[in-house]
Parts: sequence; C-alpha cells; structure tokens
Amino acid sequence: MRPAYSPRISKTRFLAGRQCHRLLWWTVHDAEELEVDAGVSATLAQGLLVGEEARRQFHHGALVDVPHNDIDERIKRTRSLLRAGAKVIFEAAFRHAGVFVAVDVLRRHGSGWDVIEVKSSTKLKKEHVVDVAVQRWVIERCGLRVKRAFVMHLSRDSRAPEMSNLFALKSVTAASKALARDVAKEARAQLRMLRGPLPEVDVGAHCTDPRPCPFLDRCHDDVEEHHVSTLHGIGSRALGLVARGITNVADLDEGAVRSVAAQRQIRAVKTRKIVVEPGLRRVVKRLRKKRIALFDLETVAFAVPRFSGCRPWDQVPAQASIDVEARDGTLKHHEFLATCDEDPRPELARFVIERLRGADTILCWNAGFERRCLQEIGNAFPELRRPLRGLSRRIVDLLSIVREHVYHPKFYGSFSLKSVAPALVPRLSYDELAVGGGQAASAMLFRLFNDVTLTKRQRRRIRDDLLAYCALDTRAMAGVLRALRRLAR
Ligand code: SF4
Repeated sequence: MRPAYSPRISKTRFLAGRQCHRLLWWTVHDAEELEVDAGVSATLAQGLLVGEEARRQFHHGALVDVPHNDIDERIKRTRSLLRAGAKVIFEAAFRHAGVFVAVDVLRRHGSGWDVIEVKSSTKLKKEHVVDVAVQRWVIERCGLRVKRAFVMHLSRDSRAPEMSNLFALKSVTAASKALARDVAKEARAQLRMLRGPLPEVDVGAHCTDPRPCPFLDRCHDDVEEHHVSTLHGIGSRALGLVARGITNVADLDEGAVRSVAAQRQIRAVKTRKIVVEPGLRRVVKRLRKKRIALFDLETVAFAVPRFSGCRPWDQVPAQASIDVEARDGTLKHHEFLATCDEDPRPELARFVIERLRGADTILCWNAGFERRCLQEIGNAFPELRRPLRGLSRRIVDLLSIVREHVYHPKFYGSFSLKSVAPALVPRLSYDELAVGGGQAASAMLFRLFNDVTLTKRQRRRIRDDLLAYCALDTRAMAGVLRALRRLAR
C-alpha cells in the first residue's frame, strides 16, 4: 500500500499559498513554469551576494553550511549549534507541523532570540512581515523564545565603495507577533488543500499581487481578445468592470475613460482600424531634414553596488545600440557591449558621444530612461558631463509620439516597443530572439559580470544574444519611424 501523502511547505511556498491556493497546488504538484531561467538565476545570485554581505555585519556567527536539499541535516546541525551555545546562527533551520523555515540570522538576545530576515529590496514590504511571522511561529513551536524580529533590507543611502550603511534594520516585532495566529490557521489550511485535488480559484487581483503568478497563462488561456484587462492603464479596475458584465474593450464607451490613449484604443477596437491623429503630420514634418539616429541602452543592476558612486540596484548602462539614418534612408549600425570586467560607464559614454556626434535628433523609446542614464554617468564622471548633456538635449521620445497620435488594435493596450513595433512594422518579430526583454537582458548582463564559471564559448553565446537583442530594438524603432512617416502621408 502507498504511504499517505504528507505535504510539506517552506516559507516561500507558504507565501505563494497565501497569494492563491491554486498557485501553491501547482507549485508543489505540477510546476513546469518554475524552471530556473536567466532571470531567476540572476535573482538567486544577487540574493546570495546580499546574504554574504549581511553576514559580515555580525561577528562570530556560525553558518549552517549544509546542502540546500538536505533538510534533515540542516535541522540537525542547527540543533547541535544551539546546544553548543552559539550566539549567532546563519541559516538556522526548523520544522513544525510540515512547515520548514531557515532563518537568515538568529541572534541570542538575553533569555531569547532575535529573528532577522535579510531582504534584497530597498524597503520594507507587507509580505516581509508575513515572512517573519511564519518563521516566528515555527521557531516558537520548536521551543525557542523570540524576543524581537527585524527585517534587514538594503539602503539606498549607501554608495559604493562605502559599505558600512549598506543595510537598514526595521523592527517588525509587534507586527509579526500579531500575525502568528493567522499563520497557524493558514498553514493548516494549505497543508489540507495540498492533500486534495487542484482547487478552483477565480482569477483576480491576486494573480499579480504581491507578485505576478507564474501560472497566469494556465488560468487566463481562454480570455477573449481585447478583454477589458487589456485596456490601456486599467489595472485592477478591470475587475469592477468584469463584475458588471463588461468583459470586452468594445463594450465600453469612449466617454467612460479619461485617458486619451484608452479612448483611441476603444475606437480602434470597435472599428477594427488603426487610429491616426491629424497632429502626426506636423510632428513628422518637424523631423524632416534632420539627421536622425535611433539609440537604445541596456543596463545591469547590482544589489550590492560594484562601481564607485553607485547605490544598491542602480541601473548601470553596459550596452548600447545606435542606428544612424543616412539621407537615402539606409541605416548604419553601431554597437557597444561592455567587457564586463570593469566599470563600463566611461567607455560606453565615450562611444555614444562619438557615434551620435552628427545626429540632430536622437530617437529613443521611453526616452526618460536614456536621459537619466546619461545624466547619472555625467554625475559620476564630471569630465563627461557637458557632452552627455548635449546628447540629452537632442533626445526625442518616439514612444510619446506614438502614444499621442497612433493606436493600432494589435497594441493590446501596451505601448512597449515589443507591442508597438510588431503591429506597425511588417515581418518584425521578437519571437526568435534568445533574450525575451529588457529584464532578461539585464539578467544576462549580470551573469557576464558575475559568473566566473562561464566558459569562453558560453560567454560568446551570451554576448551574441545580447547584441542581437539590442540591435533589434533600434531596428524596430527605425521601422516604427518609417511607419509613422507613411501614416502621416
Ligand atoms: S493565475 Fe491567478 S488564479 Fe490562477 S493560479 Fe495564479 S494566482 Fe491563482
């Protein structure tokens, strides 16, 4: 006879279950979507670096240094450190009633203990308190007295290379204690649910809050085209509309929404035609006779800042793609990708200053980002400030031009370049690329900087994928510009 299934949950799974039981059930029983990709492994690697840095803030701590999957051994080692009178334990492991937790820092405090949860974020979040409450509940059931509880998160006040104020410590003693009873009840409910079949849960705001559910596609696969949730800027208000029986963008009146872009979207979906405002002609005319360049930056962010003057999670530009338009409309491509062994900012800045020298108008997608990057490089390297300011003054936002003048039904409420370009530019697609978007590019850049185990071949492959991705962004912008000129006629 098969032994009865006895589910176990970790702190992370508890938090998933708190968001949605269906999400937890799939996480435990059928989690194809949770395979580790570049983004996840970069997040894990950043977390490890933050953890190491956090441990440096405590003296004479003992680490429960046991392979992650060997839960029994981790608990055994923790017990022996407690018996030996350890004052500070890192990764102390406990289990109670099927719930397993590992405490980032467990510190003796008088006759009891401090629980300290280390976070890579730069502020305290509600979910962190729940996280600590789970730990408190398990630890106290295992016989330890928790006197105080803290979240230790990164502080944006710190700047490399000064690391003494890298962390901020926030007390969550009272808040985590108040949640303990809820935690016990919820943990029992989750374990009971996991023994049964997949639970029925309606989609709703919990699908993206506090974090996007990895199983979104499974629950949303039968959602109709132009569902109200795709209305530009609608957010969680879509739930109210659905509750009133309004499920499609075409069911809405233009007067029901304030955003002009959303009004255009309703018009485009109802008429199934692209909407073009007459003002587009004037904007396109202004660009005529200008020497135009298309410009895109990709950045890498470090939780523990690496380069002088940077704060935790600052975006450091490490890659650039530039297409300069000749009089006959042909494009000359230039690209830069950091060597990833030193601060890329000065070399990248010199590259863009040189290659954009002849351009009167520099088109970017969501130009505020590129302007901010150039400004921050200028702040860090005063000798580059003037030419970078000159560049910033010539930057024009192509996204704003589209958002204010054009709506194609296939934008589906989004003005990201990945939504706009395939709708306006025939045969343009991002589907074949190995890099799925800006976040994936950032994760791969982080890997190039951080992963010393990469072989030469792997490194070359990642670089090629990144170059192809960034080049497509400027090519896509050039395609959108051509489409705007055509539409203006
Ligand atoms: S998509 Fe929503 S309903 Fe479906 S599992 Fe995720 S959170 Fe739950």
